[in-house]
Amino acid sequence: MKHLFFGGIHPKYNKEMSTGVTDFHSITPKQVVIPLQQHIGAPCQSLVQVGDRVLRGQKIGDGQGLCVPVHASVSGTVVAIEPRPHTSGRDVMAIVIDNDGKDEAIPHNPETRPLEELDADTILHTIREAGLVGMGGAAFPGNVKALSAMGNVDTLIANACECEPYITADDSLLRTEPEHVLEGMLILKQVLKPNRIVLAVEDNKVQAIEKIKKCLNLFPQIELAVLPTRYPQGAEKQLIQALTGREVPGGKLPVEVNCAVFNVSTFAAIYRAVRLGIPLTQRIVTISGEAIAVPQNFIVRIGTPFHDLIAAAGGLNDRTERVISGGPMMGFAQSDLSVPVIKATNSILCLLKDKNGAAENPVCLRCGKCVGVCPMRLQPLYMYRFTNAQRLDELERLNLLDCIECGSCAFTCPGKLPLVEVFRKGKKLLREAKAK
Ligand code: SF4
Ligand code: SF4
Repeated sequence: MKHLFFGGIHPKYNKEMSTGVTDFHSITPKQVVIPLQQHIGAPCQSLVQVGDRVLRGQKIGDGQGLCVPVHASVSGTVVAIEPRPHTSGRDVMAIVIDNDGKDEAIPHNPETRPLEELDADTILHTIREAGLVGMGGAAFPGNVKALSAMGNVDTLIANACECEPYITADDSLLRTEPEHVLEGMLILKQVLKPNRIVLAVEDNKVQAIEKIKKCLNLFPQIELAVLPTRYPQGAEKQLIQALTGREVPGGKLPVEVNCAVFNVSTFAAIYRAVRLGIPLTQRIVTISGEAIAVPQNFIVRIGTPFHDLIAAAGGLNDRTERVISGGPMMGFAQSDLSVPVIKATNSILCLLKDKNGAAENPVCLRCGKCVGVCPMRLQPLYMYRFTNAQRLDELERLNLLDCIECGSCAFTCPGKLPLVEVFRKGKKLLREAKAK
């Protein structure tokens, strides 16, 4: 049975722009920049030195605690270990490798035993050592997320909603490698032992749905749920509600309602790590938007600078206004196009000047439209007012920290208020105050 989540919007999806080029192109850059922080948690420490020769797949950084390793995505020579621009907007310590073009890899170590013979510890160790993080954007270490869900979930969900406009990376993955995603789901099923295992996709991904259906007879344990397209259905809490009717309480994680959600790209990476013995050194990235010459999807080595991908897609229009890492709703504008693709980069969006962009003197009209679309049942108009007034007591009362920054309110707002931008500032203020 399908349910509805509260609120949501129907933006123009523009997904057809990047699905027209059906052959994947791979990009192998002359130089890669591998940040030592690509996940939520503690940064890695470098395991190599300037001058070292490294092979593709070699572990080059690792750390303790909430941390997963990073690997070389090309073979070549380490030429620098220094702070470099990062998609987060900060400079982050990174290992810079000159590609020698030989693409020599470390020996792969695939797991060949039947799934029933693999225990949870073995699988989780392999996932960690492969450097897996949530590839839908969250970048939380995959082994830690799975460990925290062990014994606590009855429903395992593969998230293929990809509800943000323009992005088609997961869609492309499902059209080309659906069986890898399904194999990855069975591997995690072996760890989590859920009663229900479901792949959720929105109904605008017609070709992907056909491909999955053709594979499903080999995977009778897996259920396919085709959901009506609505933004932000790909957000964990909204997807859980749409699939199970359960509402994750404010400030809590999906495990609170016995669910675990992983992105489909993460499942494919789990398959590659366990069954092919290959760590996370590449991913599919959509490059799209009205300002790029040939929108398409690429298979990209982690560490590839954005400007290399932009050049490979034919370059930017002279009237380009913004390049965003991620989608138009939740992504982050980039001012430096030397930033590298990291494990969580699913899209580079290149946009022309928006004729309907932010107003010069935005004013709240008190129309209440933002309240009606907020999927977290928040009150954006008051959150906006009290963030600007720095009223932290009110922001706490309004549950500002529950805001998932989906942008539905800003999309709907006739006053063109920069709501999400202000909420990000407000959340930062509130977290800093709590830390004190
Ligand atoms: S950005 Fe935050 S306040 Fe606005 S609709 Fe999304 S969750 Fe609600
Ligand atoms: S939608 Fe915009 S103008 Fe309307 S109440 Fe919300 S913040 Fe104010």
